[in-house]
Amino acid sequence: MEFGWTDDQRRRRQQAEAFASARLVGEMRERDRDAVFARPLWDACAEFGLQRMLVPPDCGGSGEDLLTAIAAFEGIGYGGRDNGLLFSIAAHCATCEGPIGAFGTEAQQRAWLPGLAEGRLIGATGITEAESGSSALDLATSAVRDGDEWVLRGIKTFVTNAPVADLFIIYARTGSGFGGISCFLVPRDTPRLTVGPAIEKMGLRTSPIAPVHLDECRVPSTNVVGGVGSGSLIFSQTIEVERLLVMAPAIGVMERLLERSIAHARQRKVGATVIGKHQAVAHRIADMELQIEGARLLLYRAAWQRMRHGNAARESALAKLAVSEAYVEVCRSAMQIFGGYGYTVECEIERELRDALAATLYVGTSEIQRNLVAGLKGVG
Ligand SMILES: Cc1cc2nc3c(=O)[nH]c(=O)nc-3n(C[C@H](O)[C@H](O)[C@H](O)COP(=O)(O)OP(=O)(O)OC[C@H]3O[C@@H](n4cnc5c(N)ncnc54)[C@H](O)[C@@H]3O)c2cc1C
Repeated sequence: MEFGWTDDQRRRRQQAEAFASARLVGEMRERDRDAVFARPLWDACAEFGLQRMLVPPDCGGSGEDLLTAIAAFEGIGYGGRDNGLLFSIAAHCATCEGPIGAFGTEAQQRAWLPGLAEGRLIGATGITEAESGSSALDLATSAVRDGDEWVLRGIKTFVTNAPVADLFIIYARTGSGFGGISCFLVPRDTPRLTVGPAIEKMGLRTSPIAPVHLDECRVPSTNVVGGVGSGSLIFSQTIEVERLLVMAPAIGVMERLLERSIAHARQRKVGATVIGKHQAVAHRIADMELQIEGARLLLYRAAWQRMRHGNAARESALAKLAVSEAYVEVCRSAMQIFGGYGYTVECEIERELRDALAATLYVGTSEIQRNLVAGLKGVG
């Protein structure tokens, strides 16, 4: 067993942290308040190389491995403050670049991956519908073949990046059962595709999200990804990476909050005693450390498993569950240690907590991760 980073991974983590603390910290309160997606910061991340990490070199990427990408996303989570922007980038990489890179034809890869990797284009993915969230594959959006085209009809909701996206990956029904779902590339300028008004949300406010209406949208048959009927397979493969990549920044955020909490516990005096001397506070710090370390190890282990064996259904579900639950708990603990000041906007922990609360919902809720793990054990 080897628990260390390679020199290259350590370097990428440090570069990411330095980049994020220089570029992704300022004006955060205003952007959060006004729900602003900052395109210049998206572009800065692209210049840093974040959007290209998992794209193969012959398609404009840097072809790095999943653990190295996780190291970089973790570093950005630690150094930066814009969790929403990072969530948008992780979704773009995992759910748009990912399926095109793994399942797309050469023509699809050449047409789309360079622009997505450079950050010139923004990707979004629509699977969720009003009646199918946790049961994602029960979707009703249909695609019907008409000559050399497919006609898509339905409404996707909660589509991250939709208000700013250039390309949508849309999962639609082309038949029945597991093999009855297909995955389509739908460019933003496709006639009869409309993006609904942005959905206001509690946290991750700098990550734009909206419904997408497909009102008999026609796309050429060459826009099917991975062949007709491959949608469920593509989705299940993609979501393993997505669970890991979107959760990686949380490790960095939690580490930063723990360091802040320790510093505060060591200097804040109430009466004659620094609060860290109270066992209740000290144990909370120990529990934060335990939560972060457990989450971190499951995350790295799942990424290692995926890289080594190309399949990490159980490991990625466990990692997603552990990191998201730890994320919420660590933010709550930090707020508790900071007392009343922790609840103020100025302290900036309340924003981290609002951002963290989404993590037990997106990419499969905590209940769904538990169902998955139990199901793989033959229970439930
Ligand atoms: C910030 C954010 C970004 C998102 N981005 C995208 C995106 O880019 N693209 C996209 O397609 N979707 C996206 N989603 C949607 C997300 O995938 C769904 O919200 C999620 O899968 C849950 O579905 P739902 O909201 O319909 O909840 P529901 O499925 O209605 O679930 C409601 C509650 O019931 C529980 N529940 C449901 N079924 C079961 C079960 N079988 N066993 C136990 N409990 C169950 C759930 O755990 C939950 O607590 C995003 C969501 C959020 C919050």
